[in-house]
Amino acid sequence: MELWYTEKQNDNLKLSCRVTKTLHVEKTPFQSLAVLDTPGFGRVLILDGIVQTTVWDEYIYHEMIAHVPLNTHRNPKKVLIIGGGDGGTAREVVRHPRVHAAVMVEIDERVVAASRAYLPELSSGLDDPKLDLRFADGIKHVEECENEYDVIIIDSTDPVGPAVGLFSKEFYQKVHRALKEDGLFTAQTESPLFDLSFIARIHGDVGSIFPVVRQYLACVPSYPGGLWSFTMGSKKYDPVLAAPESVPDLPYRYYNNTIHQAAFMLPQFMQELLGRG
Ligand code: SAM
Repeated sequence: MELWYTEKQNDNLKLSCRVTKTLHVEKTPFQSLAVLDTPGFGRVLILDGIVQTTVWDEYIYHEMIAHVPLNTHRNPKKVLIIGGGDGGTAREVVRHPRVHAAVMVEIDERVVAASRAYLPELSSGLDDPKLDLRFADGIKHVEECENEYDVIIIDSTDPVGPAVGLFSKEFYQKVHRALKEDGLFTAQTESPLFDLSFIARIHGDVGSIFPVVRQYLACVPSYPGGLWSFTMGSKKYDPVLAAPESVPDLPYRYYNNTIHQAAFMLPQFMQELLGRG
């Protein structure tokens, strides 16, 4: 008998992948959590019925959410990661040579435990001496910070449950306050194909707070639609006008200095909605 995992995108679309083995299932205080082994994607982390990351394509998402902001800022010494419990973003942040220290604030300790147990490729950076890992609500942490971080990376779940507040205008105002005077942030902001009006709302909110707001894209096959968006709000550096002066010589698999520029070139339907058509 074949075992399949199916994720419901909407009333008309479901995405499925074949499962070799269910490795772990639990209900944490915050969400339901599962780790599956699949022939197509390798191991897959699922929260509340939504694929978070897969061993097969995680490098695309994690390199893009980390290295685009880190190489836009000239000196990203102190970094905050909100969410990111699988560890993939932390792994990328700690290997950047100009990062001296990173704080990661994840609300759900169980996601980190599952990743440590089943996803060593992702969780490998969590024990790096540069990283200070805390279990708390990222919203509360940001509220308590002022002028503290060079770069903030919001690697959250979809806007449901504990992550809802991470997509609000009030939260982006707090992020602005938590950043130093030339600071910038990046957040994962869902699918441009399925969530375009949501992205436009975020673009407007961030643009009303930060002088520079940019969307960029990457192809993440295991996410619905395959195309994924990230929003950057910056107090000073514009990732498009100012090409990264020195992208460090790291063994990237997706990111490089031309992808850094190309990722900001948006399809016509996005440009029109965001007012740059
Ligand atoms: N790459 C993924 C995606 O786009 O679907 C997200 C990865 S990561 C697993 C998301 C993490 O955000 C989860 O572990 C979740 O527990 C965490 N999270 C959600 N809301 C949070 C909050 N308010 N503060 C801190 N972490 C939060």
